[in-house]
Amino acid sequence: MRNYDVAIIGGGVIGCASAYFLAKAGVSVAIIERGQLNAGASGRNAGSLHFQLEHRLIHNETHLKAQLPHLIPLTLAAIEQWNTLEDELSCDIGLSMSGGVMVAETSEQIRLLERKAKLENRYGLAVELLSAEETLARAPYLGETVQAALYCREEGHCNPRLLTPAFARKAEALGADFFTDTAVMGLDKVGAGWNVSSRIRPGEKASERLEIRAEKVLNASGAWAHEIAAMANIHLPIFPVALMMSVTEPVPVFLKHMVQHVGRKLSLKQVEDGNLLIGGGWSARLQQHAGKWISNAPAKLSLDALKSNLGVASEIVPAVNQLHLLRTWTGITGVTADQLPIVGQVDQTPGFYVAAGGSGFTFGPLYARLLSEEILTGLPSEALQPYSPARFGHVNMYMGN
Ligand SMILES: Cc1cc2nc3c(=O)[nH]c(=O)nc-3n(C[C@H](O)[C@H](O)[C@H](O)COP(=O)(O)OP(=O)(O)OC[C@H]3O[C@@H](n4cnc5c(N)ncnc54)[C@H](O)[C@@H]3O)c2cc1C
Repeated sequence: MRNYDVAIIGGGVIGCASAYFLAKAGVSVAIIERGQLNAGASGRNAGSLHFQLEHRLIHNETHLKAQLPHLIPLTLAAIEQWNTLEDELSCDIGLSMSGGVMVAETSEQIRLLERKAKLENRYGLAVELLSAEETLARAPYLGETVQAALYCREEGHCNPRLLTPAFARKAEALGADFFTDTAVMGLDKVGAGWNVSSRIRPGEKASERLEIRAEKVLNASGAWAHEIAAMANIHLPIFPVALMMSVTEPVPVFLKHMVQHVGRKLSLKQVEDGNLLIGGGWSARLQQHAGKWISNAPAKLSLDALKSNLGVASEIVPAVNQLHLLRTWTGITGVTADQLPIVGQVDQTPGFYVAAGGSGFTFGPLYARLLSEEILTGLPSEALQPYSPARFGHVNMYMGN
C-alpha cells in the first residue's frame, strides 16, 4: 500500500493541472489514469477559449437565469489565469488570445446577442456588439449572411496537445507520481481516508494491482466521473457525450479570431501552422452494449453531422469551401444535468472531491487551482459555490458513507 495526501483519478487537463497546483503547495499526489495522459477529451478538443457565454448556455437561458451572472466572475478569473499561464508553465502551449466573434444571421439572433451583451457587460466582461458593416470591417473573411457579431477581445485558443502535458511535466518535477495504464476499480472509505484500488492494464503487468491509501480523492475522470462516483456510493449526474472535430489543410493565415455562432453549432479558428479547426458541438455516436455506454471505446463518426458541420462553417466563412479536409476525429466529454460543471466536495462523502463538466479546457486550469486551494484549506471555495455538487444533494439523500 502506497500513501499519499491526495489521489487524483484521471489524467486529463483537470487531473494534471490539479496535480500541479497541489504538488506546488507541497502536497503528495498520485495521478491514476487508465490509459495515457491527455488521451481523453483534453487532448481531442477544439482548444477554444470560451469567455463569452456560449451558444449552449444562452440556448438554456430561461433555466439558467439565476446562474448565468455567477459564471462571469469566474470567466474574468479564467482570463487572468490564461494571461499568465505560459509563464507559469514555462513553455509554449500554442496560446493565442487575439479575440473572438460570435455571429448572428437573423434579427432574432441579434436580439439574443443584445441580451447577452447587456448581461456580460453588466457583470464586467467587456464585449462589443458590432453592426454588419463593423463586423465585416473587423472580420472581412465572414460571409454576407452575417448581420452582426459580439466581439470579445480576450477570446482565442490554445493547443490541446500541449496544455495537459505541460501541467503534467511541472507536476512530475514537483514530485507528483503518475500511474498510467492503471484503471481505478474500487474506492473504500476507511477511517478518515480512502483506499483506492486499481488494476494495471492486462498485458502490461498481468493481474498486477495498485493499492493506494489517500486522505482525499479527486475525481477528475471527465465523462466517466459518474462511474468513479458510483464506487464511492454517490450518484453524479454527468452524462457522456460524443463530439467531433475536423482540421483542414494549412493555408496562409487570414483568420485571426475564434469564430462562433449564437444560433448554430460552430467553432472555427486558424492555428499558427495555418490549419483551420472546425467544430462547434456536432455529435458523434457513443458505442454501447446492452443499453450501457462502453466507457473506454472510441465514439463513431456520423457522416451526416460532418457534412452539416462543414456546411455551416463554409456558409459563415466562405473560404472554407476551397480547402481540403485533412482529418476528422471524435472525443467524449461529460455534460451535467443542468449544463453547469460540478466542482467541489461531495457532502455525503467527506474527502471526496469532483471536478467535471462544462467547457473544461477553458476553465479546467481555474477549477484545478480553486479546487486545490479548497482541498488544502478544507474551506469551500466561494467562487465555486454555483458549481457545488450540493445542488444535486437530493439524489444522494440515501447514498454516501
Ligand atoms: C470534441 C470536443 C471538443 C471540445 N471543445 C472544447 C473547447 O473548444 N473548449 C473547451 O473549453 N472545452 C471543450 N471541450 C470539453 C473539454 O475537452 C473537456 O471539458 C475537458 O477536456 C475535460 O477535462 P477532464 O480532465 O475533466 O477530462 P478528460 O480529458 O476526459 O480526462 C479524464 C480522464 O479520466 C480517465 N479515466 C476515466 N475513468 C477512469 C478510471 N476508472 N481510472 C482511471 N482513469 C480514468 C480517462 O481515461 C481520461 O483520460 C471539448 C470536448 C470534446 C470532446
